[in-house]
Amino acid sequence: LDSVVIVGAGHGGVQVAISLRQEGFRGRIVLVNDEPGLPYQRPPLSKAYLLGKINATAMLFRPETFYADQRIELVHDRVAAIDRQNRRVMLDSGSALDFGHLVLATGAHNRPLNVPGSTLSGIFGIKTKADADLLSPLVKQARNVVVIGAGFIGLEFAAVAAAEGAAVEVLELGDRPMARAVSPQMSELFRAAHQGWGVKFNFRTGLAELEGEDGKVSAVTTSDGRRLPAELVVYGIGVIPNVQLALEAGLDIDNGIRVNSSLLTSDPHISALGDVAAFPCVQNGENLTRLESVQNAVDQGKLIAARLVGKPTPYTALPWFWTDQGNLKLQIAGLSIGADNYVTLGDAAAQQLSVLCFRGEELIAVESCNRPGDHVFARKILARPPALTPAAAAAPDFDLKAWEA
Ligand code: FAD
Repeated sequence: LDSVVIVGAGHGGVQVAISLRQEGFRGRIVLVNDEPGLPYQRPPLSKAYLLGKINATAMLFRPETFYADQRIELVHDRVAAIDRQNRRVMLDSGSALDFGHLVLATGAHNRPLNVPGSTLSGIFGIKTKADADLLSPLVKQARNVVVIGAGFIGLEFAAVAAAEGAAVEVLELGDRPMARAVSPQMSELFRAAHQGWGVKFNFRTGLAELEGEDGKVSAVTTSDGRRLPAELVVYGIGVIPNVQLALEAGLDIDNGIRVNSSLLTSDPHISALGDVAAFPCVQNGENLTRLESVQNAVDQGKLIAARLVGKPTPYTALPWFWTDQGNLKLQIAGLSIGADNYVTLGDAAAQQLSVLCFRGEELIAVESCNRPGDHVFARKILARPPALTPAAAAAPDFDLKAWEA
């Protein structure tokens, strides 16, 4: 293999490039980046960067010199098409790049709002540094903020807006915060904390319409007919994988670019990873699964690089996630899909709680809020049996660290 072209310079794409060099790959590496500036990390966009706690330089994966030193060619362009027959990608600028192997790390875009008024100004999804740069001064000025969707990103933003002194209303179709991702016990802790910061939740409530004055959003109408004033609206209602390139090239698509356990697409010269890839997930019964997390993109990037230098392994890494909201740091190890039995450790009132999520007798995930030690041991326990049972976990004075040892 003499050349690897990587499409997308987010967590997955950059990791493939870095790991290829660490693995001793000596060929050409081209990283095609369609965003301005050096590649950066996304998680702070809805947290520390928006709050002004860290600057843009702190978000970069690596300084500019790193790419030159490592002979990683950063190309500012967009890949417009893949010519599989000739193993070549065409760029928006009109030039082309030949590849020995192609890596698709194109990520996902925010699912848009599709109600009347969605094109007014003052309405944001948060995906890029450009979004956060526009949003940052507005959140400091806004008095009335409406957040659509009580998932991770909506609630991270709600916490920031409340900290900046805005009155925040959250609309959520479900009946609790982060319902798709966390246990009812953890949702309750976050609901109480947000309410303590002044955030108002509207559960089982959708968005009907956005109203504006002079082209700028001024209010939202809820599905139950209420009108909430809003100078700023932020939505986080899920993402759609960026599969267009792969689709047009005839690769298999199934809620993302379909890959096998080695993260190869239906073309053996093309890999895909990160937010855009649907892979057979061991922790989800080998079902095709798309995960949107830094861990997933990074671990998959390492695996692809190792395979490309002749060290193939199936992808089995334990998924883990985190979110920061106000003073709460939530860390999740494992996937809680199908959990039906929960054991809690710690004290929800003190905002220090771990929830052990079981499916039957099997421990499948551990959610830890402000208990980082539990998260560390949970990752070790989940990565290798013997399995912890609900009965053992419910014993008085049960401790994850002692169990892991
Ligand atoms: P991305 O990082 O999205 O990178 C994809 C890149 O490809 C983008 O730059 C895109 O513009 C580019 N691209 C697309 N098409 C083309 C093309 N044709 N040509 C060239 N370039 C192209 N995860 C966590 O684990 N914890 C968190 O706290 C957390 N917080 C988050 C907060 C925010 C605001 C966001 C948006 C995400 C957050 N995530 C978090 C999710 C995490 O950032 C993603 O899972 C991760 O970035 C996925 O990496 P990726 O490489 O697959 O895609």
